[in-house]
Amino acid sequence: MLKSNPSPYQHDPLDAVVIGSGPNGLVAAIELARAGRSVTVVEARDQIGGGLHSAALTLPGYLHDVCSACHPMGVLSPAFQNLPLAEHGLRWAYPQASVAHPLDDEPAVLLQRSLAETAADLGPDARTYERLFTPFLPRPEVLLADLLGPLRLPRGPLRMARFGLQGMLPAASHFRWRFKGARARALLAGCTAHSILPFDRLFTSAVAMIFALTGHLTDWPVATGGSQSIAAALASYLRSLGGTIETGRMITSLDELPPSRVVLLDTSPDQLARLGESQLPTGYVRRLRRFRYGPGVFKLDYALAGPIPWRDPRVLEASTVHVGGTLDEIAAAESEVSRGRHPDRPFVMVVQQSQFDPTRAPAGKQTGYMYCHVPAGSDIDQTEAIERQIERFAPGFRDLVLARHAMRTSDFERLNPNCVGGAVTGGVADLYQLFTRPVARLDPYSTPNPRLFICSASTPPGGGVHGMCGWFAAHSALKRLR
Ligand SMILES: Cc1cc2nc3c(=O)[nH]c(=O)nc-3n(C[C@H](O)[C@H](O)[C@H](O)COP(=O)(O)OP(=O)(O)OC[C@H]3O[C@@H](n4cnc5c(N)ncnc54)[C@H](O)[C@@H]3O)c2cc1C
Repeated sequence: MLKSNPSPYQHDPLDAVVIGSGPNGLVAAIELARAGRSVTVVEARDQIGGGLHSAALTLPGYLHDVCSACHPMGVLSPAFQNLPLAEHGLRWAYPQASVAHPLDDEPAVLLQRSLAETAADLGPDARTYERLFTPFLPRPEVLLADLLGPLRLPRGPLRMARFGLQGMLPAASHFRWRFKGARARALLAGCTAHSILPFDRLFTSAVAMIFALTGHLTDWPVATGGSQSIAAALASYLRSLGGTIETGRMITSLDELPPSRVVLLDTSPDQLARLGESQLPTGYVRRLRRFRYGPGVFKLDYALAGPIPWRDPRVLEASTVHVGGTLDEIAAAESEVSRGRHPDRPFVMVVQQSQFDPTRAPAGKQTGYMYCHVPAGSDIDQTEAIERQIERFAPGFRDLVLARHAMRTSDFERLNPNCVGGAVTGGVADLYQLFTRPVARLDPYSTPNPRLFICSASTPPGGGVHGMCGWFAAHSALKRLR
């Protein structure tokens, strides 16, 4: 039992307490409750959900996703697929295409569910693109299960090896070598940018390939009623299993928790080091403190008088728009960010929720959601650079702006202490930290203290709303609760 004095809690010890109600914290609690364990979640904020947070940031009647917006991993994740979230109110809103990638003097590239249709639009690279992804489409659940977890023996070793051999290549040189034309290169460059890594790093191709592959398995959806609806459904299911959630309680010491057999932290490694310092070996705490978080984001949300006037109107068919032009431009922008600079032409991630979910804006109006990567801790306003990029592909955009709301790295960190320096995906996911997050251990969810576990996006498989970190952490904890 963890030390628990002074504690306001008088009842019998729980099996588990989860600190933090992000998607990983909630999935961890659900897995524990499904195994018949008593569990409570303690959340610092008044709202549950962590990165699953929606709010009226601009004008009355407009609902914005404060953090996560688009959820291919949410529908494809083995952890989520196992949960009856529709019965608990979750409705996905699907676009016609997952990604649109506008280009300067030609039609936009679309990532569509159909591999053949996507490829057909890639000019000289149609066959090469099709050949790259065809081997991974049959029984994709096996590959996804292998990719979305810690290092272990794969269930589909041959396909995993094939994926790994191509995925390990640095994206910039790989895609320049493999594809002849700007269109395929640009499409995969936009997908690579989700890695928040310079494009010359090993395994950046894998990130691009995973994101592109998900676009051939589902149309990247948004959650009807805002990303908060995902958290609401997870919480409702957890409560139906007997789990409880306490909000408005920031944990600053493990002594503040109700007595429990295990504690799972849906927090940054930094917080695990701070909260667990007296109960963890010094060497482990030192390694937690060496964890690298990577760049942050500068984000803008808009109330708009109408749809974004993309030069190519088909861009409105996609939930996500990758704005940044060619592979060379996007790679240069991301490289500048990694070197601590603010590019003049940043790569901008745009999500068009209100095109597919009418609950987000008054009739005839639209929301706008966009962000770019910035150096960790940056306080520089990137509004001008972002809007210049949007105007480049959607002239007249600024005329539609009714209101805008900006968030810097410090705003994200204030909202959620897991966003260290404004980092949005739980920390750098490069070769050295992807599988060894938060520190190298056979079971990365466990700690040297048998009662403490970490279940946040700072564990494998890393950032995103998929709940897999929570799922693996819960099963690690369940072994101790036998
Ligand atoms: C701007 C932005 C855009 C994103 N876009 C997407 C996207 O489109 N799609 C996608 O899949 N992912 C996206 N992500 C990433 C995704 O939101 C995160 O990877 C995911 O939310 C991580 O979940 P988590 O459970 O690990 O932690 P979090 O969601 O960070 O939740 C952690 C929770 O723990 C609480 N907490 C922390 N410390 C304490 C404490 N000491 N005491 C009590 N409570 C505490 C926090 O308040 C928070 O509620 C985005 C993130 C951001 C910030």
